[in-house]
Amino acid sequence: MRATVIHGAGDVRVEDVPDPVLRQPTDAVVRVLRACICGSDLWPYQSMKPSPEGQRIGHEFLGVVEDIGADVAGFTCGDLVVAPFVWSDGTCEFCRAGLQTSCRHGGPWAADGVDGGQGEAVRVPQAGGTLVKLPTGADPALLPSLMTLSDVFPTGHHAAVKAGVSPRTSVTVIGDGAVGLCAVLAARRLGAEQIILMGRHKDRTDLGREFGATEVVAERGTEGVERVRELTAGDGTHAVLECVGYREAIETGLGVVRDGGVVSRVGAPQYGELPLGFGTFLRNITLTGGVAPARAYIEGLLPDVLEGRLQPGRVFDRTTDLRGVPDGYRAMANRQAIKVLIEP
Ligand SMILES: [Zn+2]
Repeated sequence: MRATVIHGAGDVRVEDVPDPVLRQPTDAVVRVLRACICGSDLWPYQSMKPSPEGQRIGHEFLGVVEDIGADVAGFTCGDLVVAPFVWSDGTCEFCRAGLQTSCRHGGPWAADGVDGGQGEAVRVPQAGGTLVKLPTGADPALLPSLMTLSDVFPTGHHAAVKAGVSPRTSVTVIGDGAVGLCAVLAARRLGAEQIILMGRHKDRTDLGREFGATEVVAERGTEGVERVRELTAGDGTHAVLECVGYREAIETGLGVVRDGGVVSRVGAPQYGELPLGFGTFLRNITLTGGVAPARAYIEGLLPDVLEGRLQPGRVFDRTTDLRGVPDGYRAMANRQAIKVLIEP
């Protein structure tokens, strides 16, 4: 089959790889109908050292079950399924607590002999715990929004949940990428009435307004903090959803959060330390967030997507087949695309 392999910074190729087969009775094989490129795929794309053998890549996919191991319950061949961005057994104490990202028997895609999502098919370890059956035929119109259940929508939702967003909270979302836009959608879904979106790409923030942002702040740094404070009678917002991961973004978050408020970060941190000194201490700021256990949220978010009330799939602004994946990486790295959908 064909699959995406990264050989170093800026070097993504589509190659022939072995067809996936069942190796363990807990495996399934899924034929991929949709996959996508994640903002976090851009880190190796920008920094990976050259590698002759390369490494598979991609951790978001949706498809049809093609083969099932003897120990996988609850699925039949032909089921439409979505996979969260890590695999997990669904039975250990972390999984039962809704923290599948810490599963004792789980792991990441595209590492240690596990397939990546950006290919024609995937061997799914711990398939019974990992996959979520989608109660629908493969209606092409719904697939982009269903695809976001793999990562970006649950990740934005996780930011809002950890921040305790409710109808009584005002919210700032930092970042107008796919996760930031999904965080706006999630905050609105949880009832927030004031949602300030900080981002400077107009096409993206326009979509953010359609997703529920009430104000947009394009300024960054000190100016951006001042602008948010002007919009909140000087106090800042109860909740800040930090969806970028750079130090400047978390500093902005601490600048725009109201005293006693919560900064919830789902942007994977590209910094080593945080400015959490005496000044922050005096303000009783809570810092929370982390990697999203997407698997814990998929069933809860599914009805709004299936019934068309929410359309997180609108974050995809480009679609390609497998051959176009290298161009898709380029487009996302150059900020010409928010998020690229792959139809293998
Ligand atoms: Zn587990």
